[in-house]
Amino acid sequence: MSPTPPTSPTVAGVTGPLFPARSYEHTPYVDTMNWIGGEWQGAASGATFAVDNPRHGATIGRCPDSGAEDVAAAVAAAKAAFPAWRATPIKERVQVLFRLKRIMEDNLEELSWLVSHENGKIFPEARAEVEKGIECIEYGIAVANMPGQTMDVSRGVSCQVSYEPLGVVAGIVPFNFPTMVPLWMMPQALVAGNCFVLKPSEKVPFGAFKLAHMLKAAGLPDGVFNVVNGGRATVEGICEHPDIKAIGFVGSTKIAKLVYERGAATGKRVLALGGAKNHLVLLPDADFDLATSNIPASAFGCAGQRCMAASTLIAVGDDCQRYIDRMVEVTRTIQLGKDMGPVIDQAAVERITRYIDQAEAMGAKILVDGRGKRGGESGTWFGPTILDHVTPEMPAGCEEIFGPTLSIIRAATLDEALHIENKNPYGNAAAIFTSDGGAARYATERFQAGMCGVNIGVPVPREPFSFAGWNQSGFGHGDMTGWDGYRFWTRARKVTTKWAKQSDQTWMG
Ligand code: NAD
Repeated sequence: MSPTPPTSPTVAGVTGPLFPARSYEHTPYVDTMNWIGGEWQGAASGATFAVDNPRHGATIGRCPDSGAEDVAAAVAAAKAAFPAWRATPIKERVQVLFRLKRIMEDNLEELSWLVSHENGKIFPEARAEVEKGIECIEYGIAVANMPGQTMDVSRGVSCQVSYEPLGVVAGIVPFNFPTMVPLWMMPQALVAGNCFVLKPSEKVPFGAFKLAHMLKAAGLPDGVFNVVNGGRATVEGICEHPDIKAIGFVGSTKIAKLVYERGAATGKRVLALGGAKNHLVLLPDADFDLATSNIPASAFGCAGQRCMAASTLIAVGDDCQRYIDRMVEVTRTIQLGKDMGPVIDQAAVERITRYIDQAEAMGAKILVDGRGKRGGESGTWFGPTILDHVTPEMPAGCEEIFGPTLSIIRAATLDEALHIENKNPYGNAAAIFTSDGGAARYATERFQAGMCGVNIGVPVPREPFSFAGWNQSGFGHGDMTGWDGYRFWTRARKVTTKWAKQSDQTWMG
């Protein structure tokens, strides 16, 4: 079935077809297409995926299932647009992003409802995602106001560094933040003068659909930003394409590794962020209210489908029992459907169930059981779940579950807790809850994680600090956002200049 062209009414003519939902009620939308060189088109094969609203298990639209041919068309459009975009002064390039920011702010509600419908997260979480995406645009804009770097490196000799675009670059993104994760990449990449090919998750393609409409309305020249929808074949097409110079990837560790290896094999620069198993360490001197509200919020926010979610809690000492009892009470008050949305699909429900069943069979105690809990008659639901007496050897204690589960591991000392955290292969986030500054410092100096926290459940570094994990949570050099992000999408040219003839010549003479 070929997709329907997106021709329904628009909001102020800029966000593309209006997504009219202002509640969780099932609302069908248009089919999305690929955005290539300023035109909407289906996949060359005509194949499409259904996009389901996880709250209702009902289709809201379809997206193209593209192949290498479609990737090649997008790359050709991007390559054709590159010389003019690169030649556009950075001060003019950022004006597009200023306008994009304004358009997103003006249409915040519509964009947020769309995220909620395609991904399942509750409306306040969806709005927070869009707002965080806007903050990423602000950082991209700020780059244009950073001073240049020139220095006299010897008598009469100066050296200047400039950061130049790579050419055509690509971003491949996951389902859990359909609008924000593309904005981790695209602002810096475009401000630097690159042309971009975005491959959204086929489960949530509408954030990218809106971004393309809004960038067009913001005045971005055709071909500078392109969207190619699809799954594995699209990703393979991107990895293999010789004219793509860099790939930013965010998703599971298995695919991150694959993209890193395949991209590098064809000479590309690749930064691939992967999955996570984030550990929180709870000491019995922690602020009671802070810990018992923050920890469940971290584990169950966005139905646990955040790479920064606390999925493992290491409780140090028996005195932590009162915290656990309170967290169980707090978790039991979470209303599915109102306070927490569904998980993305039936495969997720089955995967999470398997982990819980297996942990139970291996001796874990289920304190709160989300199996079979529902937030509506249809849709893919899983209730918040707390498992106690998990061991690091159980799959629920060492693998990424990516659902609303908190696995509690008991430890006798802080050193034992750190040993458990250090042994897990991931390295996205880790945090400690304590009132002891010395213990906090001791832990944050020893965690095997790129993003550490003290008394905070989701230690996401806000701009201008940048985002990425270590070990099996990130492949490639540097971070995805902030200045590292700008550096990733650029290469440095150094120009050393000597005009005056010096009598006191050095080795640079
Ligand atoms: P995923 O790895 O399944 O998909 C990510 C992207 O890869 C999608 O665009 C998808 O179409 C593509 N893809 C999927 N299977 C593929 C295959 N076999 N070959 C080639 N491409 C393939 O991830 P997801 O389920 O969409 O997202 C959840 C995962 O992303 C979790 O592991 C989560 O921790 C991770 N994540 C990490 C971060 C981070 O910053 N480290 C941020 C968000 C999400």
